[in-house]
Amino acid sequence: MNEAMKVDRENFTCKMCGECCRIKDGIVRVNNVEISRIAAFLGMSEGDFIEKETEVSPDRKSLILRSRKDGACVYLTDANLCAINPVKPEKCSTFPFEWTNPDSSSVCPGCRIK
Ligand code: SF4
Ligand code: SF4
Repeated sequence: MNEAMKVDRENFTCKMCGECCRIKDGIVRVNNVEISRIAAFLGMSEGDFIEKETEVSPDRKSLILRSRKDGACVYLTDANLCAINPVKPEKCSTFPFEWTNPDSSSVCPGCRIK
């Protein structure tokens, strides 16, 4: 998906499929503010959250949320919902609008032309 193909929030319907949360090799970076918010939401100290719920990104530039063995985010529920939805990272809350990648339209059924 390129800039010209970005999705308009008002005309987008999420299919609640959770595919954007189980992208193979996908990463979700978290900054300091997001770490504080998510840790507080989960009732954890920031240190515990960092140790138990994050790992270093492949490029070693930031922390990222952990993934399960199948590649899905650890916060994706069986019902395809986000367990930390009120405090999910910016990357998640801005997909597929302000944040997209070249595979967005193939990953997200809501982005495909109906
Ligand atoms: S934090 Fe929530 S929205 Fe973001 S990838 Fe994980 S389950 Fe999906
Ligand atoms: S892939 Fe698209 S349609 Fe599916 S949950 Fe994510 S945003 Fe919604």
